[in-house]
Amino acid sequence: NKQVIFKNYVVGKVKESDLEIRTSQLRLELPEDGTNDVLVKNLYLSADPYMRPRMKEDYTSYIPPFTPGKPIDGYGVSKVVLSKNPAFKEGDYVTSFTRWEEYSVIPGGNGLKVIDTSESVPLSYYLGCLGMPGFTAYVGLYEILKPKQGETIYVSAASGAVGQLVGQLAKLAGLYVVGSAGSQQKIDLLKEKLGYDAAFNYKQETDYNAALKKYCPQGIDLCFENVGGKMLEAVLDNMKTYGRIAICGMVSQYDKDETAGASNLSKIVTSRLTVQGFLQSDYLHLQPQFIEKMMTYLKERKIVYVEDLDEGLESAVGAFIKLLKGGNVGKQIVRVAIN
Ligand code: NDP
Repeated sequence: NKQVIFKNYVVGKVKESDLEIRTSQLRLELPEDGTNDVLVKNLYLSADPYMRPRMKEDYTSYIPPFTPGKPIDGYGVSKVVLSKNPAFKEGDYVTSFTRWEEYSVIPGGNGLKVIDTSESVPLSYYLGCLGMPGFTAYVGLYEILKPKQGETIYVSAASGAVGQLVGQLAKLAGLYVVGSAGSQQKIDLLKEKLGYDAAFNYKQETDYNAALKKYCPQGIDLCFENVGGKMLEAVLDNMKTYGRIAICGMVSQYDKDETAGASNLSKIVTSRLTVQGFLQSDYLHLQPQFIEKMMTYLKERKIVYVEDLDEGLESAVGAFIKLLKGGNVGKQIVRVAIN
């Protein structure tokens, strides 16, 4: 059983040597003492930015840090191999919170949810547009920002797992949609495939304040913030009075020891902004309506979803580091097995 092992706590940028692929003996059996345990074969693993802070020794948050010497874990799509749990049977496809390894025992079957395979969508979508990132876009846009037709929304990390959906959903709600991302390829994607009205490459237009003035000349009504740091400072300077900001994440800060404070936070007062941080996990009661809406949009081809699939568990470490460097184009997934 190949596993991705967390070697030790990380300071600064994650390196290949911070994780290692280890092969342990595989026994396709369930522990005798466990009740309701399920053995799954992991098919798709989701690489997500929140996994980076979990590599810090002093991380205290809504999810514990990784344990040195143990496999890392995260969202996955898996297939049931053996089950002592009546809710799951051999051959079921499930979404899971699973270890980064080929086969996992899920104690008590906790957190597993059976996927309805009669819906003809790729299984990997349950880690993206139909999974946690999609739900994050849904909650942040509709529950936090509450968009109104004609408003201007700015989305940072706009082509990523979350951002690409925020932009498309905002467009469907009649907004003027502006995004930023870190390469020309991503800017082309935003404008040509994802329906963004305007987009800029923040690595080329490095004066973010000037860029936001250029692309949002009337100012920003709504900001879906994924990046933080200098980008958030520029956003504050360009918000319209009474604007709303949803703080979804601050990926530019995850390698740093302490979150840098924006120097112009007083703009929140003078511009009377509504700024709200949110965690998708606080809104789980809305998941059924999210799935229904997203599935409808996918079937009607009103939403497209771009994925970046790396093949094999051996590619997992590289895929995770690629995500943190912005090398992913769309939702970063590791395909461990096809079936
Ligand atoms: P993405 O698919 O967008 O991948 C991360 C992207 O972040 C990279 O592709 C890169 O794109 C960008 N990035 C990396 N480093 C920097 C940097 N220093 N400055 C600016 N951009 C950078 O990830 P997700 O869509 O999964 O996540 C987006 C955000 O949403 C993250 O902040 C994440 O933590 C947050 N999140 C929050 C949740 C919640 O419940 N609040 C749930 C899920 C995600 P580029 O090429 O553009 O630089």
